[in-house]
This record gives sequence, C-alpha cells and structure tokens, in this order.
Amino acid sequence: MNTKRTPFARPLRHPISETALEAFRLMRELEGKCTCPPRNWHGEYWKHQQCKACGDWWEQNSILHDALQLRPWQWPAVENPAAENPYSAGSPAAAHWKPKLEAQARWRALEAAERAVKSGRTTVAPLDSPATQQCGLT
Ligand SMILES: [Zn+2]
Repeated sequence: MNTKRTPFARPLRHPISETALEAFRLMRELEGKCTCPPRNWHGEYWKHQQCKACGDWWEQNSILHDALQLRPWQWPAVENPAAENPYSAGSPAAAHWKPKLEAQARWRALEAAERAVKSGRTTVAPLDSPATQQCGLT
C-alpha cells in the first residue's frame, strides 16, 4: 500500500493570532520594497548595509517568530516559497544555500490561514490574547 507522506501537515499552532497575520502581511509588502544594491558575495559582502525594507523585514520576522511561538532554531519564521538562491553563482555561500522547507511550509500555512480568515471560515485570536501565549500549566 502506498502511503503519501505529508511532512509539514501542521506547521503552525492554532489559533493564528492577528499579530502573526499582520506581521506576515507586512513582510510580503516589504519584500517588494527592497532597495539593497546587488551584493558581491565574492568580495567584502560583510560590508553590505541592508536597506530599510530589509531591516524592517527582519523586525517583522522576529515579531512573527514570537507570535507563532517558534523555537530558536526555527529561523527565519517564514521564507517565500518563490525564494531563489540570493548568492552570486559560484560563491561558497551559493553552494550551501538550500530552500528552508519548513519556513516555506509556514509561509503557505499563513497564506491559507489568511484566506480562511478572509472568507470567514475561521477566526483569529485577538491581539495578545491568552490563547496565543505559551501554554503553561496554570
Ligand atoms: Zn533590501
């Protein structure tokens, strides 16, 4: 018998909070606003200054990371499934780059959650509601 594996069936906890959806929305907006000059990965790439949009993207990523209660190694919180290798071809960094499948799965899950909320099929937890806090034995 053939069993179909769905490795990231439930990449997110529920309920999705408004904080998470808002951060995710902003991150997609910011992706289109990057004004970073092309980075030379063969040269002094560490001298690269990221643009304001990229700085804000990482800030929203932190907010999203918290809102989704991810573990420290689940970083970044999301990755655009359309992401391509950002490093210049032939550089050592390019050879090591791989898509972060888990982060991409979270991206897709957030998109799905967003659609579900818009269509009224589900509700979001209000901002900072206890339901979105780390569950403790209280
Ligand atoms: Zn940028």
